[in-house]
Amino acid sequence: AQTPVKVTVTGAAGQIGYALLFRIASGQLLGADVPVKLSLLEIPQAVKAAEGTAMELDDCAFPLLSGIEITDDPNVAFNGANVALLVGAMPRKAGMERGDLLEANGGIFGPQGKAINDHAADDIRVLVVGNPANTNALIAQQHAPDVPAERFTAMTRLDHNRALSQLAAKLQVPVTEIKKMTIWGNHSATQYPDLFHAEVGGKIAAELVDEGWLRDTFIPTVAKRGAAIIEARGASSAASAANAAIDHVYDWVNGAEWTSAAIPSDGSYGVPEGLISSFPVASRNGKWEIIQGLEIDAFSRERIDASVRELEEERDAVRQLGLI
Ligand code: NDP
Repeated sequence: AQTPVKVTVTGAAGQIGYALLFRIASGQLLGADVPVKLSLLEIPQAVKAAEGTAMELDDCAFPLLSGIEITDDPNVAFNGANVALLVGAMPRKAGMERGDLLEANGGIFGPQGKAINDHAADDIRVLVVGNPANTNALIAQQHAPDVPAERFTAMTRLDHNRALSQLAAKLQVPVTEIKKMTIWGNHSATQYPDLFHAEVGGKIAAELVDEGWLRDTFIPTVAKRGAAIIEARGASSAASAANAAIDHVYDWVNGAEWTSAAIPSDGSYGVPEGLISSFPVASRNGKWEIIQGLEIDAFSRERIDASVRELEEERDAVRQLGLI
């Protein structure tokens, strides 16, 4: 039988963790024929809740789930890990300055990056979900000098999926008819969902909608969807975030023609090298590749640059704090 793949989930007792773990255990993360071992990392006060989730996982009797480990020690959690989903993070609280937020997350993602560096399997792939995701991924990566830099990624797939769904509703087409959607930049309100390369039935999406809708409705609806969900549900999005994490890793491992992921820049499209920024990507042979050669018009350029500028500011702030 195949050796189980070890998947580590941090913040496992949280909302997203609860929506994520059962899908991983059922085979949706890697494939319906790939056995998995789960490692649940939590802070000490949430270990008991994680144990409760593990009891429920047991009670599903998932054929592919070969074991569950629960720990508050990153060195244990990442030991031999093949996939790491970094979900647990310090949320921004009212009145918190950005520096405080970054500092608190530096205290989480620095040590986790080091534990990954020292203990993870050679093929480790890391997806950061916990916000500020791009910069948390950068912090973890900078503490893992022995791991190839491109193994550290951050999630913009939820933004991508939101963009697909908004456009599909507007044009009254199934989401499957939309190709080449792209989210650029930071997973934040400055992200840029790009309809100038997206295609619907072979036509450029931006030409099928009016400019006012694209600028004043589509872009802000996608960028602020998280807040709208909180307003409606009374809690932040969890199942859709977990779903996007599944999509990201599944495609990374199994291949994809065109999607969005935040990956370390190689300087493409004027994004400074090393920043973990969202790009249009393909996945080939287990690696993300930035889709090259797209023409960027002035409208898009301005928005990509603004989001990338924010990422540079976050990077400079964590540098100044000595976190990287
Ligand atoms: P959630 O599971 O709802 O969210 C976890 C993180 O995902 C947050 O940082 C959140 O950012 C982020 N996130 C990214 N995209 C989305 C999205 N689309 N919708 C919602 N969230 C998104 O948080 P909970 O508070 O329920 O659970 C967090 C768990 O993490 C707790 O159990 C806590 O104990 C644990 N934790 C574990 C750590 C560790 O393992 N070392 C460290 C820190 C926390 P945002 O806040 O901006 O929404």
